[in-house]
Amino acid sequence: MTRQSDALSALPVTALKGVGPKSAERLARLGIRQVQDILFHLPLRYQDRTRVTPMAVLRPGDEVVVEGEVEHVEIRFGRRRSLLVHLSDGGSRVILRFFHFSAAQKNALKPGLVLRCFGEVRNGPACLELIHPEYRLAGENDPEVLEETLTPVYPTTEGMHQISWRDLTGKALELLQGSDQGLQEWLPPALLQEFSLMELTAAICYLHRPPRDAEQQLLLDGVHPAQQRLAFEELVAHQLSLRQARQLQRRKQAPRLMGDGKLRQQLAQALPFTLTGAQQRVLGEIAADLQQATPMLRLVQGDVGSGKTIVAALAALQAMEAGFQVALMAPTELLAEQHLKNFLHWLEPLGVRVGWLSGRVKGKARQALLQQLADGDLSLLVGTQALFQEDVRYHSLGLVIVDEQHRFGVHQRLALREKGGSDRLIPHQLIMTATPIPRSLAMTAYADLDLSVIDELPPGRTPVQTLLVSDARREEIIQRVRSACARGRQAYWVCTLIEESEALQCQAAEEVAQQLRQALQGLQVGLVHGRMSAADKEQVMTAFKAGEVQLLVATTVIEVGVDVPNASLMIIENPERLGLSQLHQLRGRVGRGGVESHCVLMYHPPLGRQARERLAVLRESSDGFVIARKDLQLRGPGEVLGVRQTGEMQFRVADILRDQSLLDASRQAADRLLAEHPESVQPLVNRWLGVNTRYAGV
Ligand code: ADP
Ligand code: MG
Repeated sequence: MTRQSDALSALPVTALKGVGPKSAERLARLGIRQVQDILFHLPLRYQDRTRVTPMAVLRPGDEVVVEGEVEHVEIRFGRRRSLLVHLSDGGSRVILRFFHFSAAQKNALKPGLVLRCFGEVRNGPACLELIHPEYRLAGENDPEVLEETLTPVYPTTEGMHQISWRDLTGKALELLQGSDQGLQEWLPPALLQEFSLMELTAAICYLHRPPRDAEQQLLLDGVHPAQQRLAFEELVAHQLSLRQARQLQRRKQAPRLMGDGKLRQQLAQALPFTLTGAQQRVLGEIAADLQQATPMLRLVQGDVGSGKTIVAALAALQAMEAGFQVALMAPTELLAEQHLKNFLHWLEPLGVRVGWLSGRVKGKARQALLQQLADGDLSLLVGTQALFQEDVRYHSLGLVIVDEQHRFGVHQRLALREKGGSDRLIPHQLIMTATPIPRSLAMTAYADLDLSVIDELPPGRTPVQTLLVSDARREEIIQRVRSACARGRQAYWVCTLIEESEALQCQAAEEVAQQLRQALQGLQVGLVHGRMSAADKEQVMTAFKAGEVQLLVATTVIEVGVDVPNASLMIIENPERLGLSQLHQLRGRVGRGGVESHCVLMYHPPLGRQARERLAVLRESSDGFVIARKDLQLRGPGEVLGVRQTGEMQFRVADILRDQSLLDASRQAADRLLAEHPESVQPLVNRWLGVNTRYAGV
């Protein structure tokens, strides 16, 4: 902790030679302000320019240095005019192919010259080729100009060339090596030793300029000790930032929601079922939290169909008993509407006043609603993200319930906190998700939340039989739908489409519905997709629930939460395009009644081995956790947690799937730092989460 090393961390990029205000500005846009940030801008991969590769051993895809004599130069006039340079190293030949070239360049490339080139090897029509390689004349005694280390390739954006990155990192490394302290090591020595971690400065230097004999495969896989060292520190920093968020949260005041239990009792008595043990346990956990003066932040995890909604309703009643308002938010309008219906059905008989707000509620209706909300005339507001727009004011918001949280991110969680009622009290938060995340992952991804798991399904469910069928048998499947409906059952037909735009997806779903209407005359075929008006969707869903529509064609908008117990057959087109957890959610729409249900995964052949293996997981398991684990292995945690879309949890080095073995250790380390080295907490968070972290301000 000497002056000198602190100074190095805090040094602005302009301290590097050749970095003026203009480059500094460009770097700042990438979040790079200090020399330290440059040092933490790590290569994606490496090129080996340390040796000349004999042409005989080249393989497509390799990036190599080759050296050879020009045998022949020609211009080909094909689809694209190209300059071909035939190069030989005695044993074998390759062709250099250029699409952009000048006459001078062509004329300079004379047979007999020896060239040294660097580029990626590709298969060409005649032999292996290098497309637009870097090249220059090779000198007599050239070996010394080969690189001494592997050449880093950095993540970059337009206008920043690899050369600039290499130059910048080179200068930063020089500065680092010149200072006698190196980078500030914030992890205490005991910890480094205990987890056999490399020293920070050594790891950074290694990763920017690995020696020529470095194990490239380890580096590419991200499991080299130098990378693991950084991954560990990053995970620790991430833990710390979430813990900070949590501590800050703990310092805030929330209303104690005692409640006399009357409303809850009334609802429980009106229900046609009794709560499962798991539901009761989770409700107990929530009830205890709500009575505290610190805001609850609790994630309720429960597989599809585990009965999260009623748990939410009972929690809501506790808040209302205490005289506070509740907001219930869902990620899609369809799902929010379904909650509205359920809550109206359950709560209106108890005299609870329920309001509805989505982006489509506008003008006078919206004004009136907002007024009622502000006056405290409404006890519950159900809707979409619209619930938390700037001008929505609550009279006394005590509890926020967010369903299917994986669609929302940390930042939205934070925004909700700011919606408290009066007196700087902030509301409690209950978050429900059907995405079953393995516990160690959940504790990393959601370290700012407490976790409750509903690990039991209501009794009387029959597991869904899942079949894998080629779409060549579409006719047969259609007949299957017909006969199921003839027996009084209902079915879903889910269109998963590759079209990027929602408009095209909806259009394609319309076409499928049209075809099925033709093929299934006599049956009522309904259609729901994301572009229909709320009223139209509502009408179709109501008809489906009432059994007036037998077959519901839908896009994946029905993925979450839709509940129609009589539906016992689901066809999913092109399931190979979806993730396993998403398919599991979809499939959860059937098997909600007493009868045996089926889910037909109608794939488009040929199905690769991996895709078949993936889909087989669904056939063999109905356990969301098993499926999620497989999904994690096959797709990586970003997509499974839904963080890709929201840009949350982007790690620079760590990968919470690959580095699962580090998760527990990094949590322990975070605990120890908080307890024994509090001075290192903020610097670590700043180093890894930098200015992007909003927690500091919350
Ligand atoms: P999810 O957890 O997927 O949101 P829901 O809350 O939609 O599940 O519940 C699925 C269905 O199970 C609903 O029809 C609900 O009324 C019913 N349900 C919930 N809890 C129980 C229970 N304890 N016993 C029987 N049925 C229940
Ligand atoms: Mg649900």
